[in-house]
Amino acid sequence: PQNPTRTTRDYQALDAAHHIHAFVDQKALNAEGPRVMVRGEGLHLWDNEGKRYLDGMSGLWCTNLGYGRKDLAAAATRQLERLPYYNMFFHTTHPAVVELSELLFSLLPSHYSHAIYTNSGSEANEVLIRTVRRYWQILGKPQKKVMIGRWNGYHGSTLGSTALGGMGFMHEMGGMLPDFAHIGEPYWYVQGGELTEEEFGLKAARELEAKILELGADNVAAFVAEPFQGAGGMIFPPASYWAEIQRICRQYDVLLCADEVIGGFGRTGEWFAHQHFGFQPDTLTIAKGLTSGYIPMGGLVLSKRMAEVLVEQGGVFAHGLTYSGHPVAAAVAIANIKALRDEGVVSQVKNDSGPYLQQCLRQVFEGHPLVGEIQGTGLVAALQLCEDKPSRKRFANETDITWRCRTIGFEEGLIIRATGGRMIMAPALVATRGDIEELVSKTKLALDRTA
Ligand code: PLP
Repeated sequence: PQNPTRTTRDYQALDAAHHIHAFVDQKALNAEGPRVMVRGEGLHLWDNEGKRYLDGMSGLWCTNLGYGRKDLAAAATRQLERLPYYNMFFHTTHPAVVELSELLFSLLPSHYSHAIYTNSGSEANEVLIRTVRRYWQILGKPQKKVMIGRWNGYHGSTLGSTALGGMGFMHEMGGMLPDFAHIGEPYWYVQGGELTEEEFGLKAARELEAKILELGADNVAAFVAEPFQGAGGMIFPPASYWAEIQRICRQYDVLLCADEVIGGFGRTGEWFAHQHFGFQPDTLTIAKGLTSGYIPMGGLVLSKRMAEVLVEQGGVFAHGLTYSGHPVAAAVAIANIKALRDEGVVSQVKNDSGPYLQQCLRQVFEGHPLVGEIQGTGLVAALQLCEDKPSRKRFANETDITWRCRTIGFEEGLIIRATGGRMIMAPALVATRGDIEELVSKTKLALDRTA
């Protein structure tokens, strides 16, 4: 136990007394009691009762280096002792953030040059919205301000990022704003009908063209999307999708913005997911894997072209966050990125652990009666559940089924996530073959017990 004088029930009672948790019915949670997590090492977590879990989700797809890294803790401590706080307001900077950017831009393709740091992915998308609109203002096109996202996309929980995202139930809870629009998601399994994946990818991308024409290209600032859709169900677009999206954005002078909050920092085996899909966004939103979740940090990465407009022609950008480029977060990010690079973690995902996970999933689930489709690359994957494989017919109560599978997983000491009709997983990038085998076998156990 964390504190021998307090039981799990004590923590649960205090939690119920003081917290409203994210995306859960709080009354139901209070009755059940949340699991109290107290320790982590590698891919494993322990709760206050001593029960061990394999974390198949890297926390919230963020602990890319796994738990228990002493080097990240030491980097934070050193920076806390030297300079715990200073900022990038007005006329100051500090070594930690400068060195973080030097490192970050050494890994990014050379057409990116500038960053604005934040504390989270939601904030980074807020910064994106204002920066993109400011960019068009400077270029004399202030009416170009509509942001187009995708239905079921997730970009955060603040107001702008909620509006940009496409979660209808979030919009309904006071989360919509003017000048945001959405197109469909490239979810072939459910929406592809008789089309091949290739044909559907083009059709889904051309929804963007139709939306731009409907709104008028002079009014559209940017298209924003996750390279693969994370919280919306780990949906991997068909191979034809991104090239067509890029063509459309270029043709209509609409900025192409990739939300790399989940896909960034090695998840797909490339440093950034857009590199896996082979397109070239104008901006990248980053967070999560930037610090492996050890400390909050996010950011907006800008292309040279955009940065030049903002710097050379823009004058003052009336925008700032007290903790932008926080030295302690920057120090942790540096230690994290160096470990991902120098320990060969990202190349391991590309060449070994990633292909191994994908191969194991296909071996175990291709013939499974509940699994209609297996999607994924690197250390991220989804199992689409179905009632009938040949017709791609889904269960009417698929969310109950995936939720049951997730709950059984928990009982078996496995953390994976249920989204709609899909079970999704994204283990830490330091996963060994043994961890992967445990993840796959426990997932099979949970699914078998669900059936
Ligand atoms: N963008 C994507 C793709 C995400 O998955 C998330 C969080 O899950 C966010 C943005 C929001 O990040 P944060 O929770 O750090 O605000």
